[in-house]
Amino acid sequence: MTFTEKWPSSAAGLFKAHVSPLPLAMPQKLLKSAHYIELGSYQYWPVLVPRGIRLYTYEQIPGHLRDNPYITDGYRAYLPSRLCIKSIFILSNETVNIWSHLLGFLLFFGMGVYDLTAVLPSMQASREDYAIYCIGLFCFQVCMLCSVGYHLFCCHRSEKTSRRWMALDYAGISIGILGCYVPGVFYAFYCNNYWRQVYLVAVLAMILTVFFAQIHPLYLSKQWHHLRSAIFFSVAAYGLIPTMHWMWLSGGFHTDVIQVFMPRVLFMYVIAGAALVFYVSKVPERYFPGQLNYLGSSHQLWHVLVVLMFYWWHQATLFIADYRHSHPCPERSLHA
Ligand SMILES: [Zn+2]
Repeated sequence: MTFTEKWPSSAAGLFKAHVSPLPLAMPQKLLKSAHYIELGSYQYWPVLVPRGIRLYTYEQIPGHLRDNPYITDGYRAYLPSRLCIKSIFILSNETVNIWSHLLGFLLFFGMGVYDLTAVLPSMQASREDYAIYCIGLFCFQVCMLCSVGYHLFCCHRSEKTSRRWMALDYAGISIGILGCYVPGVFYAFYCNNYWRQVYLVAVLAMILTVFFAQIHPLYLSKQWHHLRSAIFFSVAAYGLIPTMHWMWLSGGFHTDVIQVFMPRVLFMYVIAGAALVFYVSKVPERYFPGQLNYLGSSHQLWHVLVVLMFYWWHQATLFIADYRHSHPCPERSLHA
């Protein structure tokens, strides 16, 4: 079956319009072994493209994929599932997005194995500690996989499938945030069972609410644009409430425990803030339209910062756990 037979005539027409003539100086041997596709503003990169995968410009892709006009080229579109999966091996404008979170998944999986076999046993961790780290790292892994799934299948020929993956990507972010809150609250309120339970239940309720909002059919619609930003912001900002309360219960800013951990909490918020700024502002490609199609775009920076944030937070909670194990709780605070 030829390309023209297999694809809708509009897609085939678009493809024809997009593929540029090959440069004359190209060696004949190379010409036979590889398909050359013009990749944005770059010269002709030799890309061994699996059969049937073509790249499109921003104007050529369907409306639901048009999110960032500053990424002008390198889009995959109109693909069946099999080719979406195969496209993991080609250079498109989603390659870095896919691989950054695939490697992130492997990182958190490896860290889980290392925690369970080396770190936690050396800390003489309790069963609860094991459960908390399993939950945290599992949430991070789910978040990474949802993101990989979305960036892999957003180019699916069915708009419905593409949108479902997008909803799952959003839901994955809530699950990732849950993975930050659970160990954070658990160790911050380690010496205070009552408040630990209150905040764990509150966080769980909040994340579940957000999760159900995110899989609501209207969540990705234009009407919900502001609500979406508000939900995102409140989930991140909510963390300030237990943080303040934790400071107050621990005896204020000048106590040892706060001096040791507060910088780690603040740095976490710096990474999260930077990640959100890139995500929302579409900087830097906004200033270099068409120049950062494949490498260096805001979404790629957001991906890397999310991995960094999860990693940082995991290390910070390990530090807090270790501190808590070596500094027993004062008697009076346990049932406060
Ligand atoms: Zn993403």
